Amino acid sequence: MPEKNGEHAKQPLKPKKFPERKCIGCGERKKKSELIRIVRSPEGELSLDFTGRKPGRGAYLCHSVACFRAARKARRIEQNLTPGTPVPEEILNALEAELSKNEV
Ligand SMILES: [Zn+2]
Repeated sequence: MPEKNGEHAKQPLKPKKFPERKCIGCGERKKKSELIRIVRSPEGELSLDFTGRKPGRGAYLCHSVACFRAARKARRIEQNLTPGTPVPEEILNALEAELSKNEV
């Protein structure tokens, strides 16, 4: 993103050592390595991405079923990944099951 050369340009507020992403469940910012991605593939399928390397549009989430449920309840999964299209319940259930299996 090109930064405007304005008043905010020189504020040393953000030491950017690690790429940070916001969890769509709890809203906390964490290191990318501490989050998992939910990815929408170019074909429109949602899946969990534990490596961060799958192609497609992604949303970040803690390794936590609680965060998944919060994001699901607030419809942030569809807002982030499939705007305008509700995610089918069975997909959400499958993602939740996979996440709880892999929860650390
Ligand atoms: Zn979270």
